[in-house]
Amino acid sequence: MTATLMDGKAFAADLRANVARQVSALKTETGVTPGLAVVLVGEDPASQVYVRNKGRQTVDCGMASFEHALPETTSQDDLLALIDTLNADDQVHGILVQLPLPAHINADLVINAIAPDKDVDGFHVSNVGLLATGQKAMVPCTPLGCLMMLRAQHGSLSGLNAVVVGRSNIVGKPMAQLLLRDSCTVTIAHSRSRNIEALCRNADILIAAVGRPEMVTGDWIKPGATVIDVGINRIETPDGKARLVGDVAFDSAAQVAGAITPVPGGVGPMTIACLLANTLTACCRSLGQPEPDGLTA
Ligand code: NDP
Repeated sequence: MTATLMDGKAFAADLRANVARQVSALKTETGVTPGLAVVLVGEDPASQVYVRNKGRQTVDCGMASFEHALPETTSQDDLLALIDTLNADDQVHGILVQLPLPAHINADLVINAIAPDKDVDGFHVSNVGLLATGQKAMVPCTPLGCLMMLRAQHGSLSGLNAVVVGRSNIVGKPMAQLLLRDSCTVTIAHSRSRNIEALCRNADILIAAVGRPEMVTGDWIKPGATVIDVGINRIETPDGKARLVGDVAFDSAAQVAGAITPVPGGVGPMTIACLLANTLTACCRSLGQPEPDGLTA
């Protein structure tokens, strides 16, 4: 391997420590404890694990965690009523509704019912619009984490060719907006893109957010490029065990790239750390305090 390993675990630990320091300072200054409400509908085991982790890390950073676990049969109206209550609750500065929601609930409607200032996932159309127009927004956590790692790796990203593979609302599109905001030349590739390998070989920064195990191989990568692998895919190994892999074939890519994130231990840990950062940011904004240092896009 020749590439530098971008250690998301270590980066996320530093970020959480930074959040905890600033939470403590905010409490001393204002007496206010930032609070994050997480709403889970249903009993999906993976979502339950995520929600538990979020709650634990929120408390570890000195913030208040409010967990709302609702049954799978919860009606859309009842969920919207809970969102209304949380919107009006002064102790709650961030609201996250764990996705996916059961099929009988309209996720867009629910997300857009969250007060934009408390929308720490950054999925509300107001925040999408603010980001797209270069205004102060709540920025989706996974792309924010990728951006922080890229800035730490490169300093300025200005003028670099960035290719984002994937155009989802939660990763691909906001990632592209953030890179554009940092003056990259941005290409977004997707399932209909022609000659995707050639597009990727032009990238100084390559972001893979596809959900296809090890799709991006070493021969797609420009020598020396920085490769951020957002994908989390569970595959079965020949001996019947489960293993997590990214959207990038790590071994071949690491022979060509200049820097690369592993899976697991790359972007994944940054996502929750950025959720905590966004909660503190939301709290500071609600109090009219200065933006927290080094936690925003
Ligand atoms: P989506 O399924 O919403 O989007 C996938 C995107 O990849 C789509 O835009 C799709 O194109 C594109 N795509 C699919 N197949 C191909 C292909 N063969 N060639 C080019 N593009 C293709 O996924 P998400 O954005 O939600 O997630 C992507 C990955 O990131 C997943 O593995 C997910 O688990 C992971 N993830 C990780 C997070 C973390 O914390 N690290 C957080 C969120 C996601 P089209 O639009 O044309 O269909």
